[in-house]
Amino acid sequence: MSYAESVLARLKEQNPHEPEFLQAAEEILLSLRPVLLAHPEYEKNAILERFTEPERVILFRVPWADDRGRIHIDRGYRVQFSSAVGPYKGGLRFHPSVDLSIVKFLGLEQVLKNSLTGLPIGGGKGGSSFDPKGKSDAEVMRFCQSFMTELYRHIGPDTDVPAGDIGVGSREIGYLFGMYKRLTGEHTGTLTGRGLSYGGSLVRTEATGYGLIYLMEEAMRVRGDGFAGKTVVVSGAGNVAIYAAEKAQELGARVVAMYDSDGYIYDKNGVDLDVVKHIKEVERGRLSTYAERVRGAEYHAGCRGIWSVPCDIALPCATQNELDGESAKTLIRNGVRYVGEGANMPTTPEGAEAFLKSGIVFLPAKAANAGGVATSALEMAQSSGRLYWSFEEVDARLKAVMHNIYRRIDEAASEYGMAGNYIAGANIAGFLKVADAMLAQGLV
Ligand code: NDP
Repeated sequence: MSYAESVLARLKEQNPHEPEFLQAAEEILLSLRPVLLAHPEYEKNAILERFTEPERVILFRVPWADDRGRIHIDRGYRVQFSSAVGPYKGGLRFHPSVDLSIVKFLGLEQVLKNSLTGLPIGGGKGGSSFDPKGKSDAEVMRFCQSFMTELYRHIGPDTDVPAGDIGVGSREIGYLFGMYKRLTGEHTGTLTGRGLSYGGSLVRTEATGYGLIYLMEEAMRVRGDGFAGKTVVVSGAGNVAIYAAEKAQELGARVVAMYDSDGYIYDKNGVDLDVVKHIKEVERGRLSTYAERVRGAEYHAGCRGIWSVPCDIALPCATQNELDGESAKTLIRNGVRYVGEGANMPTTPEGAEAFLKSGIVFLPAKAANAGGVATSALEMAQSSGRLYWSFEEVDARLKAVMHNIYRRIDEAASEYGMAGNYIAGANIAGFLKVADAMLAQGLV
């Protein structure tokens, strides 16, 4: 049994109830096999065992009262996975599906993603089973305040810097930051994704979606191709999906389908993003109402059908395991040529294998959605330097980071004999930096 396989077997034994974490770990560990053969010092120093075990897991009670005075208890999590490269950095997710397995899978992915950005940030992730959907602003505020009442003692601008994720947008970050500031008496850059009026960075809202398109644009450019005239399907209708769709349209593509968790819209004329933004960002409503407002658009209940819409480019931007093997095969049959993961681990292992085998360009989440955290790191730099960069300046830096990521994953894949396999390229390029930082810092 190889070193990677024996560490994986141990992880499976120790974490039998964490399927998402094991899924992410398996993909990463197995793709690192050629690197581990070339670097026996990693095994000697138990780098993989340390790399897959979070430095710290914080699990806490979050009590809050709803508008009718009823008391609810949710669980809060923060997994401080790795500080080898810099302070822990990664978002908070509020969704009923959040448990330790989800937070650990996201944390592990985050370590490699943050390393890939080339910026000095370690990896962490957190969240809660609390569901902001259908709650009043006052309820969301009380929940966020209670959550921060515990979390504040574990985070700080040089320790751990949380941000948003599913269910945590600008409203939640505002409430979390307000409570953090009150508890510590400090106005620091401890949370990113802040509003522009209190220390946020321009482009942070758009960054993950735009970054995905910048990476894809580079992968297309080196193949003599581009977005103009292409048909695109984007799953999700949240932060990542909306801004990926916006940038793809700006570059001349036609986005014909999107979904929220109830169903998908198909608009052959190209989705009207102003309408989608109004429904999702202003009204906090359902995408089903899009078809009532836009002539010629269709609404289909259920999500899976979206992958049968023919397209040149597919961008899964909602959640984990939303694109399975069957859906991948349907996309390939219908002529998809490029797939970029905006969400974290949206493609199942069977789906990823089908894409790799077909020879299409497949850009995995670690690389493809790193633009969000990269821009968060730029927000941290502006906060600590008391600076405020223009939209153009931040956007140009984001683009440079994404182009650099493309170069790194492409080179790493080729160097280890897997040219064009960007899953392996991203895992290897991200891992090498973390592993070397761990070796340099001794047994800690
Ligand atoms: P949002 O909460 O803004 O949007 C999530 C979208 O996905 C919503 O439209 C939601 O539907 C939909 N969705 C969620 N769960 C499901 C499901 N089980 N089935 C179908 N649709 C679903 O989140 P983000 O856009 O911020 O995050 C999306 C993904 O991108 C996540 O995987 C996240 O980890 C990843 N990501 C986000 C970053 C960021 O900067 N925000 C950075 C890097 C990665 P509904 O509206 O019905 O709730």
